[in-house]
Amino acid sequence: MSDGRYADGPTEKCGVVGVSLADRDAARPLYYALYALQHRGQESAGIVTHDGFQQYSHVGMGLVGDAFTEEDLEGVNGSTGIGHVRYPTAGSLDSSCAQPFSVSFKSGSLGLSHNGNLVNTDEVRAELAAVGHAFTSDGDTEVIAHDLARNLLQEDLIRAVKRTMGRIHGSYSLTIMHDDTVMGLRDPQGNRPLCIGEIDGGYILASESAAIDVLDGDLVRDVRPGELVILGPDGAGFDSYQLVDAEHTAHCFFEYVYFARPDSRIDGDLVYDVRRELGRRLWEESPVETDVVLPVPDSGRAFASGYAEAAKADGVDVEFAEGLMKNRYVGRTFIMPTQDARERAVRLKLNPISDVVTDRTVTVIDDSIVRGTTSSQLVRLLRDVGAEEVHMRIGAPPIVAPCYMGIDMATREELIAADEDVGAIREAIDADSLSYLSIDAIAGALGESRADLCLGCVTGEYPYDIEGEATDREVSRPQVGDARAEATGDD
Ligand code: AMP
Repeated sequence: MSDGRYADGPTEKCGVVGVSLADRDAARPLYYALYALQHRGQESAGIVTHDGFQQYSHVGMGLVGDAFTEEDLEGVNGSTGIGHVRYPTAGSLDSSCAQPFSVSFKSGSLGLSHNGNLVNTDEVRAELAAVGHAFTSDGDTEVIAHDLARNLLQEDLIRAVKRTMGRIHGSYSLTIMHDDTVMGLRDPQGNRPLCIGEIDGGYILASESAAIDVLDGDLVRDVRPGELVILGPDGAGFDSYQLVDAEHTAHCFFEYVYFARPDSRIDGDLVYDVRRELGRRLWEESPVETDVVLPVPDSGRAFASGYAEAAKADGVDVEFAEGLMKNRYVGRTFIMPTQDARERAVRLKLNPISDVVTDRTVTVIDDSIVRGTTSSQLVRLLRDVGAEEVHMRIGAPPIVAPCYMGIDMATREELIAADEDVGAIREAIDADSLSYLSIDAIAGALGESRADLCLGCVTGEYPYDIEGEATDREVSRPQVGDARAEATGDD
């Protein structure tokens, strides 16, 4: 079995945005929207715009605020544009992978922002390279751009996009610019989120609705799986083309559990409500009566409040307290290169408030356990300040396999639940008890059947055809050579 992390180029867990406006520069709304999506990527940020005559681009490393100066923003002209924030994955700290990807072809200029991860990049790249396409990065986004450019030489925009969809396989939410036309495209199973909003003077496409909120706009709806949305010029409405229909969706449940902002609405559900409901179900499935319930900030908060609320509804008098303080200036523990550095980072990041904990029994609620670093450090810290008992409750099932669809989830060797059962993990993290949430609870809270979710990281069976891995449905990769013929159906 493959270890997963870079099966087909780096995994990309990112944020994308696109706007089309009437008589107004796109740069600033894009910049604000990227700020709202900063949690989806901190490695690089970029904007590509078009003023009707030419394309402009600025991409910088680091946080949105560091990647742009006032001058940079003034230099990206035009009333249409797309933007991107990129997540740091170990080994990919490389400006050649920063996005939006932009390039000029005979068929016009293209810009692409991609969230997700293709699983047949190498095949498509090899075929394009064989007919003379030269690549500057090992990423999948450039492959999509080249394929689309090639198709645009032969047919109209919509057919060209459809043909590209017939060749690429995997997870993609894209914002695309072809000259000054802005589009949004979601893979046929809708793995990553993408939504449409109306803002002052035009329309926006964004990974999460929080980006629409910060522009004082209104969420119109989610982009449907397999749908191409083309924003009208000068901010005038949008057109929809349902290019591919899949029998089932493969929405990523981890967006709700960890990744997305709680104030975003994804595929009809407010992430905050979902997390609270998961917390309530966590209590129903594995209640433990302790003096106090502590969330691991930030994502554990909504789970813990739902959990404590359900406990109270059952007549259990439990205190919900913020007993762990987070230093928000410490980067995500995940990107630390060594285990030692990761442990140090958890200690820097989270500090218990001893008065809340000392001589008391404690339930700690986190959204997930990946390597187990955070939980084992936390249990030790809480015992050090005098907790009598420490019980861990986790708002997701055990993560047993890597994510190939764009969330950086470590390799099988690093995943503590890949070959340990819950009892062994409890021992390893030294908790008095440990319980995870069931997969059924996740599906129930989302109101979706298991068949419509991507559960690859908790089952080891994926909704895409990934070399060396099992799949949980009938899917097959497009045969790249043949797909060109197959994809030319009616729109
Ligand atoms: P670990 O310490 O390796 O067990 O990771 C679990 C902690 O990391 C939890 O507190 C999660 O909130 C957080 N987490 C989960 N998934 C990710 C991810 N893909 N990137 C960064 N942090 C994550």
